[in-house]
Amino acid sequence: MAQPFLLRCLACRHLGGGFPMDFESTSLKCPRCGAAAAALVPRVRIYLIAEVSDGPIVGIYGKRFACVSDPAKKTFIQHQEAFTDDPLAVTNPACKETDVYKKLKRERDLQHALATGNLTGLDENCCE
Ligand SMILES: [Zn+2]
Repeated sequence: MAQPFLLRCLACRHLGGGFPMDFESTSLKCPRCGAAAAALVPRVRIYLIAEVSDGPIVGIYGKRFACVSDPAKKTFIQHQEAFTDDPLAVTNPACKETDVYKKLKRERDLQHALATGNLTGLDENCCE
């Protein structure tokens, strides 16, 4: 089965919510507002990778990495795909469901909160 589309609905932004709707779907229809293809833009699927000793992805200095949601995945050269070690850049929903992503995201949220002095909105488990 083909991988679902990773899409952003631009129509939702104009309905008062102020933020776009990102979703995965096999059909070109927004699940929130019902907008069709003309209001949808494709998003690059950005996977999270983490350093592991036997990972299939070789980085600089011989470091090895693996995708946190699909450790056997070897290449990211397909259209509209990329990878990152920055949790704030990840768009792939499966990667966002992993414990690795959640831990890294909490750390980044805490770093940001400490740097800005704004501690509101932090995940209650941010300091574990
Ligand atoms: Zn929408």
